[in-house]
Amino acid sequence: MTANSRGNEPTPTAFDAIVVGAGPAGTTAALALAQAGKRVLLLERGEYPGSKNMFGGMVAWCPAPEELLPGFWARAPWERAVTKRVLSLVGPGSTTSLVFQAAAEAEAPSVGAGWSSDRSLTGLTLFRPHFDRWYAEQAVAHGVTLLNGCRVEGLVKKGDRVVGVRVAGPDDVVEAPLVIVCDGVLSLLAAEAGLHPGVKAEQVALGVRALYLLGEEEVASRFGLVGREGATQEFLGCTENVRGGGFIYTQTETLAVGLVLHLDAVKARGLAPYELLERFVASPAVAPLLRGARLVEYSAHLLPEAGRRMVPRLETEGLLVAGDAAGFCYTNGLTQEGMNLAMTSGLLAGRVAAQALAAGEVTVRSLSRYRKALEESFVLRDLRTYQKAIDFLHHDRLFTVYPRVISRLLEDIYRSDGRPKARIGRLARRVFKGELSAWQLAADVFKIGRAFL
Ligand SMILES: Cc1cc2nc3c(=O)[nH]c(=O)nc-3n(C[C@H](O)[C@H](O)[C@H](O)COP(=O)(O)OP(=O)(O)OC[C@H]3O[C@@H](n4cnc5c(N)ncnc54)[C@H](O)[C@@H]3O)c2cc1C
Repeated sequence: MTANSRGNEPTPTAFDAIVVGAGPAGTTAALALAQAGKRVLLLERGEYPGSKNMFGGMVAWCPAPEELLPGFWARAPWERAVTKRVLSLVGPGSTTSLVFQAAAEAEAPSVGAGWSSDRSLTGLTLFRPHFDRWYAEQAVAHGVTLLNGCRVEGLVKKGDRVVGVRVAGPDDVVEAPLVIVCDGVLSLLAAEAGLHPGVKAEQVALGVRALYLLGEEEVASRFGLVGREGATQEFLGCTENVRGGGFIYTQTETLAVGLVLHLDAVKARGLAPYELLERFVASPAVAPLLRGARLVEYSAHLLPEAGRRMVPRLETEGLLVAGDAAGFCYTNGLTQEGMNLAMTSGLLAGRVAAQALAAGEVTVRSLSRYRKALEESFVLRDLRTYQKAIDFLHHDRLFTVYPRVISRLLEDIYRSDGRPKARIGRLARRVFKGELSAWQLAADVFKIGRAFL
Protein backbone atom coordinates (compact mmCIF):
# COMPACT_ATOMS: atom_id res chain seq x y z
CA MET A 1 0.00 0.00 0.00
CA THR A 2 1.25 3.47 -0.80
CA ALA A 3 1.60 5.83 2.12
CA ASN A 4 2.34 9.06 0.31
CA SER A 5 4.01 10.50 -2.75
CA ARG A 6 6.91 12.38 -1.20
CA GLY A 7 9.57 9.78 -1.75
CA ASN A 8 9.10 7.97 1.58
CA GLU A 9 9.11 4.19 1.47
CA PRO A 10 5.57 2.79 1.33
CA THR A 11 4.60 1.12 4.60
CA PRO A 12 2.45 -2.03 4.38
CA THR A 13 -0.41 -1.78 6.87
CA ALA A 14 -3.51 -3.82 7.62
CA PHE A 15 -5.77 -0.79 7.20
CA ASP A 16 -6.03 2.00 4.64
CA ALA A 17 -7.46 4.40 7.19
CA ILE A 18 -8.05 4.78 10.91
CA VAL A 19 -11.03 6.78 12.17
CA VAL A 20 -10.92 7.90 15.81
CA GLY A 21 -14.28 8.19 17.57
CA ALA A 22 -17.53 6.37 16.70
CA GLY A 23 -19.86 9.34 17.12
CA PRO A 24 -21.95 10.52 14.14
CA ALA A 25 -18.93 12.10 12.40
CA GLY A 26 -16.59 9.11 12.80
CA THR A 27 -19.11 6.42 11.88
CA THR A 28 -20.14 8.34 8.74
CA ALA A 29 -16.50 8.85 7.69
CA ALA A 30 -15.69 5.17 8.28
CA LEU A 31 -18.77 4.04 6.35
CA ALA A 32 -17.96 6.32 3.39
CA LEU A 33 -14.43 4.89 3.26
CA ALA A 34 -15.64 1.28 3.53
CA GLN A 35 -18.18 1.84 0.76
CA ALA A 36 -15.33 3.13 -1.42
CA GLY A 37 -13.61 -0.23 -0.88
CA LYS A 38 -11.12 0.90 1.76
CA ARG A 39 -10.12 -1.14 4.80
CA VAL A 40 -11.13 0.99 7.78
CA LEU A 41 -10.46 0.68 11.50
CA LEU A 42 -12.89 2.64 13.71
CA LEU A 43 -11.62 3.15 17.26
CA GLU A 44 -14.00 4.06 20.09
CA ARG A 45 -12.98 4.59 23.71
CA GLY A 46 -16.47 3.86 25.08
CA GLU A 47 -17.72 0.40 25.95
CA TYR A 48 -19.88 0.73 22.81
CA PRO A 49 -20.56 3.65 20.42
CA GLY A 50 -22.89 6.10 22.15
CA SER A 51 -22.15 4.87 25.67
CA LYS A 52 -20.35 8.14 26.42
CA ASN A 53 -22.43 10.35 24.15
CA MET A 54 -25.35 12.60 24.92
CA PHE A 55 -27.04 15.57 23.36
CA GLY A 56 -30.27 17.55 23.78
CA GLY A 57 -31.43 16.60 21.35
CA MET A 58 -32.97 16.81 17.99
CA VAL A 59 -31.19 16.06 14.76
CA ALA A 60 -32.21 18.36 11.91
CA TRP A 61 -32.93 16.83 8.48
CA CYS A 62 -29.65 15.39 7.21
CA PRO A 63 -29.30 13.55 3.89
CA ALA A 64 -25.67 12.45 4.50
CA PRO A 65 -26.32 8.96 5.96
CA GLU A 66 -29.16 8.45 3.48
CA GLU A 67 -26.60 8.88 0.66
CA LEU A 68 -24.58 6.01 2.09
CA LEU A 69 -27.44 3.80 3.24
CA PRO A 70 -30.68 4.44 1.30
CA GLY A 71 -33.68 4.16 3.63
CA PHE A 72 -31.46 5.08 6.60
CA TRP A 73 -33.96 7.33 8.40
CA ALA A 74 -36.77 4.83 7.92
CA ARG A 75 -34.75 2.24 9.81
CA ALA A 76 -32.78 4.32 12.31
CA PRO A 77 -33.88 4.17 15.96
CA TRP A 78 -35.25 7.66 16.43
CA GLU A 79 -37.69 8.63 19.16
CA ARG A 80 -40.12 11.30 17.95
CA ALA A 81 -40.52 13.48 14.83
CA VAL A 82 -40.60 17.07 16.00
CA THR A 83 -43.55 19.05 14.67
CA LYS A 84 -43.82 21.58 17.47
CA ARG A 85 -41.12 24.01 18.62
CA VAL A 86 -41.53 26.42 21.48
CA LEU A 87 -39.29 29.33 22.47
CA SER A 88 -39.97 30.62 25.98
CA LEU A 89 -38.71 33.76 27.71
CA VAL A 90 -38.71 33.26 31.45
CA GLY A 91 -39.25 36.33 33.64
CA PRO A 92 -39.56 36.60 37.42
CA GLY A 93 -43.38 36.58 37.35
CA SER A 94 -44.34 35.03 34.02
CA THR A 95 -43.18 33.11 30.95
CA THR A 96 -43.77 34.27 27.37
CA SER A 97 -43.70 31.66 24.60
CA LEU A 98 -43.63 31.61 20.83
CA VAL A 99 -45.00 28.35 19.41
CA PHE A 100 -44.15 27.00 15.96
CA GLN A 101 -46.42 24.17 14.79
CA ALA A 102 -45.63 22.46 11.47
CA ALA A 103 -48.63 22.07 9.14
CA ALA A 104 -50.09 18.71 8.19
CA GLU A 105 -47.81 18.06 5.18
CA ALA A 106 -44.73 18.27 7.40
CA GLU A 107 -46.15 15.85 9.93
CA ALA A 108 -44.26 13.02 11.53
CA PRO A 109 -42.93 10.43 9.08
CA SER A 110 -44.10 6.90 9.69
CA VAL A 111 -41.30 4.40 10.14
CA GLY A 112 -42.06 2.90 6.73
CA ALA A 113 -42.19 6.22 4.89
CA GLY A 114 -38.94 7.41 6.38
CA TRP A 115 -37.76 10.99 6.46
CA SER A 116 -37.02 13.02 3.36
CA SER A 117 -36.31 16.59 2.35
CA ASP A 118 -40.07 16.93 1.68
CA ARG A 119 -40.50 16.68 5.41
CA SER A 120 -37.53 18.81 6.33
CA LEU A 121 -39.53 21.09 8.62
CA THR A 122 -39.33 18.33 11.16
CA GLY A 123 -36.37 17.05 13.10
CA LEU A 124 -36.02 13.78 14.95
CA THR A 125 -35.31 13.35 18.63
CA LEU A 126 -32.80 10.59 19.36
CA PHE A 127 -31.38 8.74 22.30
CA ARG A 128 -27.67 8.68 21.50
CA PRO A 129 -26.72 5.38 23.19
CA HIS A 130 -29.28 3.66 20.91
CA PHE A 131 -28.68 5.69 17.75
CA ASP A 132 -24.85 5.75 17.78
CA ARG A 133 -24.66 2.04 18.56
CA TRP A 134 -27.11 1.09 15.80
CA TYR A 135 -25.34 3.36 13.28
CA ALA A 136 -21.94 1.83 14.06
CA GLU A 137 -23.48 -1.65 13.60
CA GLN A 138 -24.55 -0.61 10.08
CA ALA A 139 -20.98 0.51 9.38
CA VAL A 140 -19.65 -2.84 10.63
CA ALA A 141 -22.14 -4.64 8.38
CA HIS A 142 -20.61 -2.72 5.46
CA GLY A 143 -17.05 -3.74 6.23
CA VAL A 144 -15.79 -1.33 8.92
CA THR A 145 -13.71 -2.91 11.68
CA LEU A 146 -14.88 -1.43 14.99
CA LEU A 147 -12.83 -1.68 18.16
CA ASN A 148 -14.65 -0.57 21.30
CA GLY A 149 -13.00 0.25 24.63
CA CYS A 150 -9.96 1.48 22.73
CA ARG A 151 -8.74 4.95 23.71
CA VAL A 152 -6.38 6.65 21.28
CA GLU A 153 -3.67 8.40 23.27
CA GLY A 154 -1.74 10.13 20.52
CA LEU A 155 -0.59 10.24 16.93
CA VAL A 156 2.29 8.38 15.31
CA LYS A 157 4.28 10.58 12.94
CA LYS A 158 7.07 10.14 10.42
CA GLY A 159 8.48 13.62 9.99
CA ASP A 160 5.46 15.87 9.36
CA ARG A 161 3.29 13.01 8.21
CA VAL A 162 0.74 11.25 10.45
CA VAL A 163 1.07 7.50 9.89
CA GLY A 164 -1.03 6.05 12.68
CA VAL A 165 -2.18 6.29 16.28
CA ARG A 166 -0.99 5.21 19.71
CA VAL A 167 -3.66 3.40 21.71
CA ALA A 168 -3.88 2.50 25.39
CA GLY A 169 -2.93 -1.16 25.75
CA PRO A 170 -0.24 -3.68 24.90
CA ASP A 171 -0.36 -3.43 21.04
CA ASP A 172 -0.01 0.24 21.42
CA VAL A 173 0.56 1.42 17.82
CA VAL A 174 -1.71 1.00 14.79
CA GLU A 175 -0.48 2.37 11.49
CA ALA A 176 -2.37 3.41 8.36
CA PRO A 177 -1.68 5.94 5.59
CA LEU A 178 -4.56 8.15 6.72
CA VAL A 179 -6.19 9.08 10.04
CA ILE A 180 -9.54 10.87 10.39
CA VAL A 181 -9.93 12.47 13.77
CA CYS A 182 -13.54 12.60 15.06
CA ASP A 183 -12.84 12.57 18.79
CA GLY A 184 -15.28 15.32 19.77
CA VAL A 185 -15.15 18.86 21.04
CA LEU A 186 -11.79 19.05 22.87
CA SER A 187 -9.97 17.01 20.20
CA LEU A 188 -6.60 16.50 21.79
CA LEU A 189 -5.56 14.74 18.58
CA ALA A 190 -6.30 17.74 16.33
CA ALA A 191 -4.31 19.85 18.80
CA GLU A 192 -1.43 17.34 18.71
CA ALA A 193 -1.49 17.45 14.91
CA GLY A 194 -0.97 21.23 15.20
CA LEU A 195 -4.39 22.07 13.70
CA HIS A 196 -5.46 24.22 16.65
CA PRO A 197 -3.69 25.54 19.75
CA GLY A 198 -6.19 23.99 22.21
CA VAL A 199 -9.80 24.87 22.92
CA LYS A 200 -10.47 27.94 25.11
CA ALA A 201 -13.24 28.27 27.74
CA GLU A 202 -14.97 31.07 25.79
CA GLN A 203 -15.28 28.79 22.74
CA VAL A 204 -17.33 26.05 24.41
CA ALA A 205 -20.51 25.57 26.39
CA LEU A 206 -21.27 23.01 29.06
CA GLY A 207 -24.43 20.97 28.56
CA VAL A 208 -26.02 19.39 31.64
CA ARG A 209 -28.95 17.11 31.05
CA ALA A 210 -31.33 15.07 33.15
CA LEU A 211 -33.52 12.36 31.67
CA TYR A 212 -36.99 11.91 33.21
CA LEU A 213 -39.17 8.86 32.67
CA LEU A 214 -42.80 9.88 32.23
CA GLY A 215 -44.43 7.25 29.98
CA GLU A 216 -45.41 7.51 26.31
CA GLU A 217 -49.02 8.64 26.77
CA GLU A 218 -48.17 11.23 29.40
CA VAL A 219 -45.42 12.76 27.20
CA ALA A 220 -47.93 13.05 24.34
CA SER A 221 -50.73 14.52 26.45
CA ARG A 222 -48.53 17.08 28.26
CA PHE A 223 -47.14 18.44 24.99
CA GLY A 224 -50.27 18.02 22.85
CA LEU A 225 -48.75 15.37 20.55
CA VAL A 226 -50.27 12.59 18.48
CA GLY A 227 -48.55 9.26 17.74
CA ARG A 228 -44.84 9.71 17.17
CA GLU A 229 -45.01 13.51 16.97
CA GLY A 230 -42.51 15.31 19.17
CA ALA A 231 -41.89 18.76 20.62
CA THR A 232 -38.92 20.80 21.69
CA GLN A 233 -38.96 23.73 24.08
CA GLU A 234 -36.04 26.18 24.48
CA PHE A 235 -35.90 28.64 27.38
CA LEU A 236 -34.11 31.97 27.78
CA GLY A 237 -33.82 33.76 31.12
CA CYS A 238 -33.74 30.56 33.17
CA THR A 239 -30.02 30.44 33.95
CA GLU A 240 -29.71 32.89 36.86
CA ASN A 241 -27.89 35.51 34.79
CA VAL A 242 -25.40 33.03 33.35
CA ARG A 243 -25.17 33.18 29.53
CA GLY A 244 -27.03 30.12 28.27
CA GLY A 245 -30.44 28.57 27.94
CA GLY A 246 -32.62 25.66 28.93
CA PHE A 247 -34.25 22.92 26.89
CA ILE A 248 -36.83 20.15 27.02
CA TYR A 249 -36.91 17.53 24.25
CA THR A 250 -39.61 14.88 24.09
CA GLN A 251 -38.45 11.34 23.51
CA THR A 252 -40.82 8.37 23.27
CA GLU A 253 -41.27 7.81 27.00
CA THR A 254 -38.85 10.30 28.49
CA LEU A 255 -38.12 14.00 28.62
CA ALA A 256 -34.56 15.28 28.19
CA VAL A 257 -34.33 18.40 30.35
CA GLY A 258 -31.18 20.46 30.54
CA LEU A 259 -29.16 23.62 30.31
CA VAL A 260 -26.46 24.75 27.92
CA LEU A 261 -24.19 27.25 29.69
CA HIS A 262 -21.26 29.21 28.27
CA LEU A 263 -18.29 27.77 30.14
CA ASP A 264 -16.55 31.12 30.77
CA ALA A 265 -19.81 32.56 32.17
CA VAL A 266 -20.37 29.61 34.56
CA LYS A 267 -16.77 29.86 35.75
CA ALA A 268 -17.10 33.62 36.28
CA ARG A 269 -20.30 33.21 38.33
CA GLY A 270 -18.84 30.35 40.38
CA LEU A 271 -22.16 28.47 40.34
CA ALA A 272 -22.37 24.69 40.15
CA PRO A 273 -24.11 23.69 36.87
CA TYR A 274 -26.12 20.91 38.57
CA GLU A 275 -27.46 23.48 41.06
CA LEU A 276 -28.64 25.66 38.17
CA LEU A 277 -30.27 22.60 36.61
CA GLU A 278 -32.05 21.77 39.86
CA ARG A 279 -33.44 25.31 40.03
CA PHE A 280 -34.51 25.13 36.37
CA VAL A 281 -36.30 21.82 36.93
CA ALA A 282 -38.09 23.25 39.97
CA SER A 283 -39.09 26.50 38.20
CA PRO A 284 -42.78 27.26 37.51
CA ALA A 285 -42.19 26.98 33.73
CA VAL A 286 -40.80 23.44 33.97
CA ALA A 287 -42.02 21.75 37.16
CA PRO A 288 -45.63 21.16 35.93
CA LEU A 289 -44.32 19.37 32.83
CA LEU A 290 -42.32 17.00 35.04
CA ARG A 291 -44.94 16.26 37.67
CA GLY A 292 -44.79 12.57 38.58
CA ALA A 293 -41.76 11.93 36.34
CA ARG A 294 -38.80 9.89 37.64
CA LEU A 295 -35.20 11.00 37.19
CA VAL A 296 -33.37 8.14 35.46
CA GLU A 297 -30.10 9.64 34.22
CA TYR A 298 -27.89 12.67 34.65
CA SER A 299 -25.02 13.60 32.32
CA ALA A 300 -22.81 16.50 31.24
CA HIS A 301 -20.87 17.20 28.06
CA LEU A 302 -19.10 20.12 26.37
CA LEU A 303 -20.10 21.47 22.97
CA PRO A 304 -18.48 23.95 20.55
CA GLU A 305 -20.11 27.40 20.59
CA ALA A 306 -17.86 29.84 18.71
CA GLY A 307 -18.93 29.06 15.15
CA ARG A 308 -16.52 29.57 12.28
CA ARG A 309 -14.08 31.40 14.53
CA MET A 310 -13.08 28.14 16.18
CA VAL A 311 -12.85 26.04 13.01
CA PRO A 312 -9.20 24.94 12.86
CA ARG A 313 -7.05 23.95 9.90
CA LEU A 314 -8.80 20.84 8.67
CA GLU A 315 -5.96 18.79 7.26
CA THR A 316 -2.33 17.97 7.61
CA GLU A 317 -0.17 15.31 5.94
CA GLY A 318 -2.07 12.03 6.45
CA LEU A 319 -4.85 13.48 8.65
CA LEU A 320 -8.32 15.05 8.43
CA VAL A 321 -10.60 16.29 11.21
CA ALA A 322 -14.45 16.22 11.26
CA GLY A 323 -17.46 16.90 13.49
CA ASP A 324 -17.19 18.65 16.87
CA ALA A 325 -13.43 18.08 16.72
CA ALA A 326 -13.46 20.68 13.92
CA GLY A 327 -15.86 23.01 15.78
CA PHE A 328 -18.81 22.17 13.50
CA CYS A 329 -21.63 22.87 15.94
CA TYR A 330 -23.56 26.03 16.74
CA THR A 331 -26.69 27.62 18.07
CA ASN A 332 -28.17 30.79 16.58
CA GLY A 333 -30.53 31.21 19.52
CA LEU A 334 -33.42 29.49 17.74
CA THR A 335 -31.93 26.14 16.90
CA GLN A 336 -29.00 23.95 18.01
CA GLU A 337 -27.24 22.02 15.24
CA GLY A 338 -24.28 19.70 15.52
CA MET A 339 -25.18 16.13 14.63
CA ASN A 340 -26.15 17.00 11.05
CA LEU A 341 -22.89 18.93 10.64
CA ALA A 342 -20.97 15.99 12.12
CA MET A 343 -22.50 13.45 9.73
CA THR A 344 -22.07 15.70 6.69
CA SER A 345 -18.46 16.58 7.49
CA GLY A 346 -17.79 12.87 8.17
CA LEU A 347 -19.22 11.98 4.75
CA LEU A 348 -17.10 14.60 2.97
CA ALA A 349 -13.96 13.66 4.92
CA GLY A 350 -14.50 9.97 4.10
CA ARG A 351 -15.02 10.68 0.40
CA VAL A 352 -11.99 12.99 0.06
CA ALA A 353 -9.91 10.48 2.02
CA ALA A 354 -10.97 7.63 -0.28
CA GLN A 355 -10.03 9.67 -3.37
CA ALA A 356 -6.66 10.61 -1.86
CA LEU A 357 -5.92 6.99 -0.96
CA ALA A 358 -6.92 5.82 -4.44
CA ALA A 359 -4.52 8.37 -5.94
CA GLY A 360 -1.81 7.32 -3.44
CA GLU A 361 -1.46 10.92 -2.35
CA VAL A 362 -2.47 11.70 1.24
CA THR A 363 -0.79 15.09 1.16
CA VAL A 364 -2.07 18.47 2.38
CA ARG A 365 -2.61 19.44 -1.26
CA SER A 366 -4.92 16.52 -2.05
CA LEU A 367 -6.65 16.57 1.35
CA SER A 368 -7.40 20.30 1.07
CA ARG A 369 -10.28 19.31 -1.25
CA TYR A 370 -12.09 18.52 2.00
CA ARG A 371 -12.27 22.21 3.03
CA LYS A 372 -13.45 23.09 -0.46
CA ALA A 373 -16.23 20.49 -0.24
CA LEU A 374 -17.24 21.85 3.17
CA GLU A 375 -17.28 25.43 1.84
CA GLU A 376 -19.74 24.29 -0.82
CA SER A 377 -21.90 22.37 1.67
CA PHE A 378 -24.25 23.80 4.31
CA VAL A 379 -21.65 23.06 7.01
CA LEU A 380 -19.32 26.03 6.53
CA ARG A 381 -22.01 28.11 4.80
CA ASP A 382 -24.38 27.94 7.80
CA LEU A 383 -21.54 28.73 10.19
CA ARG A 384 -20.77 31.81 8.06
CA THR A 385 -24.46 32.80 7.73
CA TYR A 386 -24.98 32.72 11.49
CA GLN A 387 -21.57 33.93 12.71
CA LYS A 388 -22.94 37.33 13.79
CA ALA A 389 -25.83 35.61 15.61
CA ILE A 390 -23.34 33.28 17.32
CA ASP A 391 -21.27 36.31 18.39
CA PHE A 392 -24.38 38.16 19.57
CA LEU A 393 -25.21 35.22 21.84
CA HIS A 394 -22.09 36.08 23.84
CA HIS A 395 -23.82 39.27 25.14
CA ASP A 396 -25.07 38.92 28.72
CA ARG A 397 -28.10 41.22 28.23
CA LEU A 398 -29.81 38.73 25.96
CA PHE A 399 -30.05 36.22 28.81
CA THR A 400 -30.65 38.64 31.67
CA VAL A 401 -32.30 41.96 30.81
CA TYR A 402 -34.44 41.00 27.80
CA PRO A 403 -36.35 38.00 29.23
CA ARG A 404 -37.04 40.13 32.33
CA VAL A 405 -38.26 43.27 30.56
CA ILE A 406 -40.28 41.42 27.91
CA SER A 407 -42.06 39.42 30.62
CA ARG A 408 -42.76 42.59 32.63
CA LEU A 409 -44.04 44.42 29.56
CA LEU A 410 -46.44 41.60 28.69
CA GLU A 411 -47.58 41.39 32.33
CA ASP A 412 -48.37 45.14 32.16
CA ILE A 413 -50.16 44.77 28.81
CA TYR A 414 -52.33 41.88 30.01
CA ARG A 415 -52.97 43.32 33.49
CA SER A 416 -56.56 44.38 34.07
CA ASP A 417 -57.04 46.03 37.45
CA GLY A 418 -60.00 48.33 36.99
CA ARG A 419 -57.77 51.35 36.26
CA PRO A 420 -57.39 53.09 32.85
CA LYS A 421 -54.78 51.44 30.61
CA ALA A 422 -51.61 53.23 29.47
CA ARG A 423 -50.32 53.15 25.88
CA ILE A 424 -47.88 50.29 25.15
CA GLY A 425 -45.07 52.78 24.39
CA ARG A 426 -45.45 54.29 27.84
CA LEU A 427 -45.51 50.86 29.50
CA ALA A 428 -42.37 49.92 27.56
CA ARG A 429 -40.54 53.08 28.66
CA ARG A 430 -41.46 52.27 32.25
CA VAL A 431 -40.16 48.67 32.20
CA PHE A 432 -37.00 49.59 30.26
CA LYS A 433 -36.14 52.43 32.68
CA GLY A 434 -33.11 51.52 34.76
CA GLU A 435 -32.67 48.27 32.79
CA LEU A 436 -31.59 49.47 29.37
CA SER A 437 -30.82 52.86 27.82
CA ALA A 438 -32.31 53.89 24.47
CA TRP A 439 -28.79 53.69 23.01
CA GLN A 440 -28.25 50.16 24.24
CA LEU A 441 -31.64 49.12 22.88
CA ALA A 442 -30.92 50.73 19.49
CA ALA A 443 -27.48 49.08 19.37
CA ASP A 444 -28.97 45.66 20.17
CA VAL A 445 -31.76 46.04 17.59
CA PHE A 446 -29.06 46.93 15.05
CA LYS A 447 -26.98 43.87 16.05
CA ILE A 448 -29.99 41.55 15.89
CA GLY A 449 -30.78 42.97 12.46
CA ARG A 450 -27.20 42.34 11.29
CA ALA A 451 -27.23 38.85 12.81
CA PHE A 452 -30.42 37.59 11.23
CA LEU A 453 -31.43 39.81 8.29
C1 LIG B 1 -26.20 19.24 25.91
C2 LIG B 1 -26.02 19.10 24.45
C3 LIG B 1 -27.12 19.32 23.61
C4 LIG B 1 -26.96 19.20 22.24
N1 LIG B 1 -28.07 19.34 21.46
C5 LIG B 1 -27.98 19.12 20.13
C6 LIG B 1 -29.16 19.12 19.32
O1 LIG B 1 -30.25 19.30 19.80
N2 LIG B 1 -28.99 18.89 17.99
C7 LIG B 1 -27.78 18.63 17.43
O2 LIG B 1 -27.71 18.40 16.21
N3 LIG B 1 -26.66 18.63 18.18
C8 LIG B 1 -26.73 18.85 19.51
N4 LIG B 1 -25.60 18.79 20.28
C9 LIG B 1 -24.29 18.65 19.61
C10 LIG B 1 -24.03 17.23 19.14
O3 LIG B 1 -24.15 16.35 20.22
C11 LIG B 1 -22.61 17.15 18.56
O4 LIG B 1 -22.43 18.16 17.60
C12 LIG B 1 -22.33 15.79 17.91
O5 LIG B 1 -22.45 14.77 18.86
C13 LIG B 1 -20.92 15.77 17.31
O6 LIG B 1 -20.63 14.48 16.83
P1 LIG B 1 -19.11 13.98 16.74
O7 LIG B 1 -19.16 12.63 16.13
O8 LIG B 1 -18.29 15.02 16.10
O9 LIG B 1 -18.60 13.92 18.25
P2 LIG B 1 -19.14 13.05 19.48
O10 LIG B 1 -20.59 12.77 19.35
O11 LIG B 1 -18.65 13.76 20.70
O12 LIG B 1 -18.37 11.67 19.33
C14 LIG B 1 -16.99 11.57 19.58
C15 LIG B 1 -16.67 10.12 19.84
O13 LIG B 1 -15.27 9.97 19.97
C16 LIG B 1 -14.98 9.13 21.08
N5 LIG B 1 -13.63 9.50 21.51
C17 LIG B 1 -13.22 10.68 22.03
N6 LIG B 1 -11.90 10.66 22.29
C18 LIG B 1 -11.46 9.44 21.92
C19 LIG B 1 -10.20 8.82 21.94
N7 LIG B 1 -9.11 9.45 22.39
N8 LIG B 1 -10.10 7.53 21.50
C20 LIG B 1 -11.19 6.86 21.03
N9 LIG B 1 -12.42 7.41 21.00
C21 LIG B 1 -12.56 8.69 21.41
C22 LIG B 1 -16.09 9.45 22.08
O14 LIG B 1 -16.26 8.43 23.04
C23 LIG B 1 -17.28 9.63 21.16
O15 LIG B 1 -17.94 8.40 20.92
C24 LIG B 1 -25.70 18.89 21.67
C25 LIG B 1 -24.60 18.67 22.51
C26 LIG B 1 -24.76 18.76 23.87
C27 LIG B 1 -23.58 18.48 24.75
